[in-house]
Amino acid sequence: MSGHQLSGTTLRERTAAAVADERLRGNVARAVDRFASHRLRGLAELDDGQGGGPDALRRAARAVKADVLARLPDLLEQFADRVLDLGGHVCWAPTAADARRYVVEVVRSTGARRVAKSKSMATEEIDLNPALEAAGAEVVETDLGEWIVQLAGETPSHIIAPALHKDRHQIRDLFVDAVAAPADLPTEPAELVAFARRRLRDVFLGADVGVTGANVAVASTGSIVLVTNEGNGRLVTALPRVHVVVLGMERLAADWHQAELLLALLARSATGQRLSSYTSVVTGPRGPGEVDGPEELHVVVLDNGRSELLGGEHHEMLACIRCGACLNVCPVYRQTGGHAYGWVYPGPMGAVLTPLLAAEHPERDWVLTRILWLSGTEIGRNRLGEVDTMRRYIYIHGAPDEAPMGVPSSIGCIRMRNAEIVELFDLVPVGTPVEIS
Ligand code: SF4
Repeated sequence: MSGHQLSGTTLRERTAAAVADERLRGNVARAVDRFASHRLRGLAELDDGQGGGPDALRRAARAVKADVLARLPDLLEQFADRVLDLGGHVCWAPTAADARRYVVEVVRSTGARRVAKSKSMATEEIDLNPALEAAGAEVVETDLGEWIVQLAGETPSHIIAPALHKDRHQIRDLFVDAVAAPADLPTEPAELVAFARRRLRDVFLGADVGVTGANVAVASTGSIVLVTNEGNGRLVTALPRVHVVVLGMERLAADWHQAELLLALLARSATGQRLSSYTSVVTGPRGPGEVDGPEELHVVVLDNGRSELLGGEHHEMLACIRCGACLNVCPVYRQTGGHAYGWVYPGPMGAVLTPLLAAEHPERDWVLTRILWLSGTEIGRNRLGEVDTMRRYIYIHGAPDEAPMGVPSSIGCIRMRNAEIVELFDLVPVGTPVEIS
C-alpha cells in the first residue's frame, strides 16, 4: 500500500495541495468533461425510442452481474477448471500479500529480468510493482498513461485514464527529463504517442514476463478478455514467454453472451465507444502449432476482501465494471483528481471500495467524506446539514429505472459521517469554479 500513499501527507494536505493547483484542476476538469460527453453520446446512440437503449443495456448488465454474483463460487471453479484443462496455472489469493508473493515467485522462478505490464488496477491494488522491483525485476508499464505516471513516480489519477491530470506540455517535459527525449519534441499528441511507441517497442520485444489484469473472465471457456485502445495488452500477452493475469474475483461472466453484454456497456460507459479499439482474448497458454502467445499462463484470482462483501450490505459494489463514469461526473473528483484520495480507487466508487478493501489504509474512513464534500449543490451543501441524510445510505446510482440519464452504470452506496464532513468543509469554497479552456 505504500506506493499509493503520499508519504508524510494527510488527506487534508493532499486535498489542499490539489485544489490549489489550478493547472491540475483544469486538466482534470477538461478530461472528465470530455469523457462524460463522449459517454452520453455513445449511450444516446443506443436509444431506439421504444424503451430500449441505454437503460435496457444497463438493466441487462445488472441482471448479468446479479446472476454472476449469485453463483460466483461455482463460476470461479468452472473458470479455474477450464484454465487448468488448457494447461494454465491458477493461484487463489485471499489477500494482496498472497497475490504479490505468487507473482514475485513466478518472476523469480522464470529468471525474468524484465516485466512488461498492461494497465491493471488489480495490480495497483496489490502494489505489485515495488514488490517485483525489490525482487530485482525491471517493471515497465506499457499503457501510455501508465508509462507517464510511472516515469513521473506517481500512481494513476483515474482508473481508465491514469495520466489525465497532466497536459501535453507537462508530458513532453517529463519525456525530456525522464527518458532523454529531444528537447524540441513537439507537444502534439500524435508526436508524443509516436515517441512513446518507439520507446516501448523494445520493451515488448525484450520482456520475459507479461503481467495484465482482466476486464472480464469467461467461465465457460477459461478465457481472459482485455480491452485497450493502444494494443499494448495484445503485445504484452503475445510476446513474453510467461503471462501472469491478476483477476479481481468478481470480474467473471458465465459465458460469451454475458461477456459481450458487459464489454458493450464498459466501452460505452468508459469512453463512449461501441467497443474499445482492441478487445483481446487469451484462452490458455500457446497451444501446439500456434505461433504466438505465452508458453506459461498463470491466473491469480484475487479476493482481497471481496468474498466478505458477497451477500452483505455492500454486495452490489461487486457489480462495478470499473468504467470510471462515476469519477467523471463527481464534483469532488473534478476538483482534486485521484491522488488526493490516497489509494488506488478514487471518486465515488473509491469512496465505497477503499474502506472495504484497503483494510490497512489509515485514512480509509475519511475517504467516505469526499463524495459529498465540495459537491456543493444538490447532494452536497443542501444536505450537509441534514444529519439524517448523513446517517443513511446515499446511492451513487440506483437501479436504472430510478436513475436519471447520465448517471453511471451500476450501483454503489456510501454512508457519510457528519462530523467529518463539517471538518473538511472549510478547506475550499464550495463550488470553486474550475477554469476550462
Ligand atoms: S461504480 Fe459504476 S460508474 Fe463507477 S466505475 Fe463502477 S460501474 Fe463505473
